[in-house]
Amino acid sequence: MSRIAYVNGRYRPHRDALVHIEDRGYQFSDGVYEVCEVSGGRLVDERRHMERLQRSLAELHIRLPMTLRALSVVLHETIRRNRVDWGIVYLQITRGVARRDHAFPAPEVTPSLVVTARALSKTRNEALAAKGIAVVSVPDNRWARVDIKTVGLLPNVLARQTAVEQGARDAWFVDRDGRVTEGASTNAWIVTKAGTVVTRPAADHAILRGITRMVLFDAINAKGLALEERAFTLAEAYAAREAFVTAASQIVLPVVAIDGRPIGGGKPGPIASALRREFHRYAEAG
Ligand code: PLP
Repeated sequence: MSRIAYVNGRYRPHRDALVHIEDRGYQFSDGVYEVCEVSGGRLVDERRHMERLQRSLAELHIRLPMTLRALSVVLHETIRRNRVDWGIVYLQITRGVARRDHAFPAPEVTPSLVVTARALSKTRNEALAAKGIAVVSVPDNRWARVDIKTVGLLPNVLARQTAVEQGARDAWFVDRDGRVTEGASTNAWIVTKAGTVVTRPAADHAILRGITRMVLFDAINAKGLALEERAFTLAEAYAAREAFVTAASQIVLPVVAIDGRPIGGGKPGPIASALRREFHRYAEAG
């Protein structure tokens, strides 16, 4: 079955799904995106993802090119046309097409909207979670507004490539004070020896406010686990009982090695595994 993408008002076969060379997303990374999990053909946490999308757009003064209700129809229709039962739906909105000039186009142009949907292998993802992943640390050299989910991801790309070249799956960014910010496309978590779950706060714009992260707070509280929203150092992470990452496309993935040092005896920890199992009880299914 051929894949179908939505591009600026039309559903197109993937190979013909094109945007203009002067789209500002292509020229300047002047756009934002969202990735939502699709489970049982349904969108997971659509409301929260749409709230974050609206915030990202507002921060960049890009307007939503259609109503939220219409956007929801496009997302669902793209999932349906691609027959995705389990996987992800991706949406990107850029400032639009205009003659190349750094300042915003005046008059304003219509923002571009692209939506794709892709099936993922649940079996492969479960196998990955059962084994756990290795991560490597890299200096956080991103801009100061990573709380906006922009398509400008070059530092994240380079970080992931470093991870791959070192035989790892993800990279953890570390700030100038030696404290972990987040993964290249995930939020980073540890469980201390005392059993406290720790993740970096989102208030200072140093991480993306992950939707999976927010849902996990509910799961952690419901389980009565101790939770601390604070920055943790790489040294603390090396000494942690457990570590894990979260993202909509992976839910919760246990981390079993950081910079080649085994975490939790090199096996997925019980807290990360339990949170992964129970995640969907706390997420909103559309
Ligand atoms: N941090 C970064 C840099 C990301 O790119 C992502 C997801 O793409 C996340 C965190 C996790 O966010 P979410 O749980 O909303 O997928």
